[in-house]
Amino acid sequence: MAKLLILGGTAEAAELAARLAGDDRLETVTSLAGLTRLPNVGGGAVRRGGFGGPDGLAAYLKDGGYGALIDATHPFAAQIAMHAAEAAEKAGVPRVKLLRPPFERTAEDRFIPVPDMKAAAAALPQGARVFLAAGRREIAPFAARPDLWCLVRMIEPPASGEVFPNGEIILGRPPNDPAAEVALLKQHSIGWIVSKDSGGTAGAKIIAARRLGLPVVLVERPMPPPGQTVASVAEALSWIERSLRL
Ligand code: NAP
Repeated sequence: MAKLLILGGTAEAAELAARLAGDDRLETVTSLAGLTRLPNVGGGAVRRGGFGGPDGLAAYLKDGGYGALIDATHPFAAQIAMHAAEAAEKAGVPRVKLLRPPFERTAEDRFIPVPDMKAAAAALPQGARVFLAAGRREIAPFAARPDLWCLVRMIEPPASGEVFPNGEIILGRPPNDPAAEVALLKQHSIGWIVSKDSGGTAGAKIIAARRLGLPVVLVERPMPPPGQTVASVAEALSWIERSLRL
């Protein structure tokens, strides 16, 4: 039976695994970095943890008899994407990157593009009240700005002893509801938003910013890996059919 490895950790990876779960023509395994305690998986088998770099992943693909690799990791997960490209090349396994489109741009957006989180923190004016959608490992530059008040939404809570910006934390995944985001921003008198250009459903906060006329300090995406890219789960399914000759 054909075997497919999905590098996951995103809603698209979970949707893909769920769509393939009942397909008896292939066996699907989703790989997770193992950072999130309650990951959204979707279906099929799961493995957790790094491979030990591109050589480790190449060996995993060969030893496991995988016929194809879908890199459905997050647009900002740049290291695993480069490792996947190198490993698939070494193992001679077809690979595609599933990369969701960036946030849509409209005339109402007040985007301030910056290259990284450090530049995002530096771009905020003195005393700003900020909504910050960022992971635990990305918030340090904001903690170095005690003049800011930050409402931070993150999936995993910070560990004790970790630096944290002045403000409040909301734990959870982003809602797909702009009205809920508008209410949240108003409730906390937010004047600025900091977001990565992740695309996908987290676009609700971008729509909310547009509705309220708020500026968004937008962290630009890292370079995608070399090779073929698809933009949706439907395109990824067609690619699987072709690559594994199902
Ligand atoms: P990263 O910096 O690109 O990768 C760091 C290392 O983590 C990789 O070299 C790899 O270790 C391991 N790794 C990452 N994703 C993996 C996977 N799906 N399966 C097995 N090992 C994996 O990645 P990151 O930005 O920390 O993201 C980690 C995970 O969180 C990814 O699965 C990503 O899809 C998800 N995620 C990331 C973001 C974000 O903003 N970065 C947002 C939402 C979800 P080895 O080199 O040892 O193989």
